[in-house]
Amino acid sequence: MNKQDLKSLKRNELSKWFAKNGFPAFRAEQVFNWLYKNGIDCFEDMSNLPADLIDYLKEKAYFERLIKVDTIEAEDGTIKYLWGLSDAEQIESVYLPFADGRNSICISSQLGCQMGCSFCATGKSGFIRNLTTGEIVDQAFQMQKDISKAAYGEPRISNIVFMGMGEPLENLEAVMKAVNIFNDEKGFNIGMRKITISSSGIVPAIRKLADLEAQLVLAISLNAPVNSLRNRLMPINKKYPLDELLSAVRYYINKTNRRVSFEYVLINGINDTIEMAEKTADLLKGYLCHVNLIPLNPVVGFGFQGPGRENMIDFKGILEERGIECTIRQERGSEIQAACGQLRHLNK
Ligand code: SF4
Repeated sequence: MNKQDLKSLKRNELSKWFAKNGFPAFRAEQVFNWLYKNGIDCFEDMSNLPADLIDYLKEKAYFERLIKVDTIEAEDGTIKYLWGLSDAEQIESVYLPFADGRNSICISSQLGCQMGCSFCATGKSGFIRNLTTGEIVDQAFQMQKDISKAAYGEPRISNIVFMGMGEPLENLEAVMKAVNIFNDEKGFNIGMRKITISSSGIVPAIRKLADLEAQLVLAISLNAPVNSLRNRLMPINKKYPLDELLSAVRYYINKTNRRVSFEYVLINGINDTIEMAEKTADLLKGYLCHVNLIPLNPVVGFGFQGPGRENMIDFKGILEERGIECTIRQERGSEIQAACGQLRHLNK
């Protein structure tokens, strides 16, 4: 019989699993507490569980545990983690400490990605499979353990962004279960507004997410304001072109009353021109939104270059003149290939 991964279960699911197996709900609360308050994921170390329960759990259940294969730390404190999975595949995630006290992690939702964005290392290395909830949760669990100076304490992870490997909306069920555990006050206790899901624009899933009315941050990778260019940069646009995407975003905003982030990776000479800035401003006019301009982090062998500083400032200026809120994202981790679009499923 297959064992149950207890890190893949939300708190109420854990209670149900314990009840189904003949144990009272408070035992599930104890296990959840050991996991997320104490960072303990070994049955023998859960000292308030009776021996017969520990024996039973060892036979019927387990905790997903990623193997830390490697870490690389940048001068700014960014740490890229390479994790080994139980099927010998590898994924990456990133820890980003900020001067304002935020401790953000960027995590992966899939092993590889099938979206094939032309500027992205993950997309180029193909798609293998979705990650389980336990594999998603364990990235945060292991990073929290790793960065804690005390046993499982400070600094605490304060923000989580699904901007690592994969398209989170293609693995929506597992991602939303992980989000529930991150948000649970007895789990990671991270506010919904500090959790960001970034999507290349899977229209039906954006509508589904809107119907959940979760108060998280939705970030859409826009990257081009016209279909001809977006088709080239992001093949998903051929399936869900801009008018369908923007209509789903409108639906999301109306349902949740949340501001949407548009991510725009600036690529020298391709999408960073004055014309593209004007078209972007026209496209987003009237939307409750914010634009994040991200200088491309070049990946060796892809042929694209990052924009010049002047182009970025001009682009930002045009959006702001036309009433679109906009920031240029601070570059982090690019020298260790840990920036947006630089993660791969193997550290090739
Ligand atoms: S940018 Fe995101 S959606 Fe596009 S290929 Fe890379 S990981 Fe996938």
